[in-house]
Amino acid sequence: MGSHLAERFVRAGHEVICLDNLQTGRLSNIAHLMHEPRFSLLRQDIVQPVNVDGRLDEIWNLACAASPPQYQRDPVHTFRTCIQGSINLLELAREKNARILQASTSEVYGDPEVALQSESYRGAVNTWGPRACYDEGKRAAETLFFEYERLGVEVRIARIFNTYGPRMSPEDGRVVSNFVRQALEEEPITIYGEGRQTRSFCYVDDLVEGLVRLMASDARGPVNLGNPGEFTVRELADIVLAMTGASSRLVQEPMPQDDPRQRRPDITRARTELGWAPTVDLHEGLRRTIAHFRDELAEGRRIAQAG
Ligand code: UDP
Repeated sequence: MGSHLAERFVRAGHEVICLDNLQTGRLSNIAHLMHEPRFSLLRQDIVQPVNVDGRLDEIWNLACAASPPQYQRDPVHTFRTCIQGSINLLELAREKNARILQASTSEVYGDPEVALQSESYRGAVNTWGPRACYDEGKRAAETLFFEYERLGVEVRIARIFNTYGPRMSPEDGRVVSNFVRQALEEEPITIYGEGRQTRSFCYVDDLVEGLVRLMASDARGPVNLGNPGEFTVRELADIVLAMTGASSRLVQEPMPQDDPRQRRPDITRARTELGWAPTVDLHEGLRRTIAHFRDELAEGRRIAQAG
């Protein structure tokens, strides 16, 4: 998401400082920006104090691993990224008088008891399960953002629902990248549980447009950004198989603890206050993502053979 946003801003003539610890971000995603005079990379972790010279108009906090296997690898660091990292960036926003946007998440709703999650729904989150470091971290980050808002900082909060697209790592571990990679490599498709749990998948370009509109808006309080089209995991597997023409078989793996059973955004706020709605449906988004993964996996094989 960060590389897509950075690209858009550089093209629009803005100066962009990309701050990344490269825990899950990949240099290959910004390689095409590195020669741009208006783009620079600061390799740093936001859990350390962040110092930037000169003026800053906007801060976009997209930091934190978002894939369950990745954020669960070092749960304390995930929590610190959300809490200490947010404090560090909020302090920077206060110092620079910059507007700051927080990438919050549908995970603040936990395992929702309502079929359609609106911003007023308070969620059902387990405080001590394996997902808690991320869910509670992101919830506490929202708390921090609104406390700084009361101190006069201009904050915007996007609650982002499952987003996918080109530049995701094939090794990311989330469902879309797993299924696409598995299908393209003719490996078994790993369905966790019976695959009846649902998710709503938003294509990255749509999400970026929503974020840009939110930052520029006067919207106060959290705003859901996601695609309301809801699919079971099993349906997603069938669509990926049909679109890739793969003959992979489906294998069932244990359902991870606290895995949300359903998820679908109510985007009424985004529609009315930002004039935003997704434009890329799952088939079109997957078509573009599959093409990207095909290229990336072929490039990986080429390098492996050459080396
Ligand atoms: N999932 C799956 N197979 C995989 C990866 C994920 O069945 O190889 C399921 C997972 O259990 C969850 C859904 O797909 O119900 C979405 O998982 P993901 O990790 O993409 O995101 P999140 O659970 O954070 O929404």
